[in-house]
Amino acid sequence: MSNQILVVIEHLKGNIEDISFEMLGKGKEISGNTGGELVALLMGSGVESMTSQLGIADKVIYVDDANLAEFNPQAYCKTVSEVVSTNQPKMIMIGNTSMGMDIAGGVSIDQNISFIAYVSGISSDGNTITSSLYGGKMNVDSASSGDACIVSVISGSFKADDGRADGSPAVENASAPDLGNLSLQFKQLIEPEGGDVDITTQEILVSVGRGIQSDENLPLAEELASKLGGAVSCSRPIVDSKWLSKTRQVGKSGLKVKPKLYLTLGISGAPEHIEGMKDADLIIAVNTDPNAPIFDYAHYGVVQDIFDFIPALSDKL
Ligand SMILES: Cc1cc2nc3c(=O)[nH]c(=O)nc-3n(C[C@H](O)[C@H](O)[C@H](O)COP(=O)(O)OP(=O)(O)OC[C@H]3O[C@@H](n4cnc5c(N)ncnc54)[C@H](O)[C@@H]3O)c2cc1C
Repeated sequence: MSNQILVVIEHLKGNIEDISFEMLGKGKEISGNTGGELVALLMGSGVESMTSQLGIADKVIYVDDANLAEFNPQAYCKTVSEVVSTNQPKMIMIGNTSMGMDIAGGVSIDQNISFIAYVSGISSDGNTITSSLYGGKMNVDSASSGDACIVSVISGSFKADDGRADGSPAVENASAPDLGNLSLQFKQLIEPEGGDVDITTQEILVSVGRGIQSDENLPLAEELASKLGGAVSCSRPIVDSKWLSKTRQVGKSGLKVKPKLYLTLGISGAPEHIEGMKDADLIIAVNTDPNAPIFDYAHYGVVQDIFDFIPALSDKL
């Protein structure tokens, strides 16, 4: 096993995702404290120019292959596995994202390496790893056994800015393993339908969750949003219930938003929701449960029934 921290870089449509910079920043802290090497693994086809955004890494391993042009869990899993087998890193950091979760489990089995998921904290020596479970209601610390481990990091756990550095890191070109005859094939990237309000450009969002109870109550939130000069967004159960369209969903499988004000009404604050709104300038949460995880992220919290809160604020406005 080497003293390497390997960060798997996630990118989509030409943009490196924030989670990659979060992991690079944390990886740099650990490698700095332990005398290790921080290595970024970039996979794709024709994306070598992205290495210039990975200046914080001591080295970038770049694997270019036509089969890696679009995300394919099987191809990416095989490639990460090959790099891990060759380099024997002591820690492999992967995003706890839709893509990352597809990779981490497979590499863990293939390389027989322990896998710690839902990671929200890592000590600066890398020896204590905290997982956030049950929608953020319980934290579990895992102590390192000294063996290599894979950690999948929840987006928003570390500061992305700590991992951003332009530069010219050493680039090692590595060949992909044999990616012929894959049983999974990429077909199409399905993006949210257009034609609705673009919640990613709104400065004020009033976001409703399951606490709204029925689509008949949605006009209350719409009226409040309109008085505030914003729009209504929501958590996933609201879209699953077909009360609002997918274009309004904030979170991991929805859209990332960064408004000036994000007001949540009856949203618990599950990690998948937090992933999409954690960067809002001001977060105000209203929830009847004082222990709701959303209050860990809100700048202001109101423990109140939304059906009392909404008319009271609407009246004031
Ligand atoms: C792969 C994957 C992807 C996902 N992607 C997303 C995503 O993109 N976006 C997303 O949001 N979720 C996503 N989820 C779902 C996520 O895990 C949660 O289930 C979801 O965010 C919960 O939504 P909620 O907070 O509205 O509901 P709940 O967790 O049920 O919370 C409802 C909250 O309302 C409060 N409440 C109830 N009544 C009132 C009242 N009258 N007044 C005030 N408060 C009240 C309750 O105390 C509770 O905290 C994803 C899950 C998976 C597995």
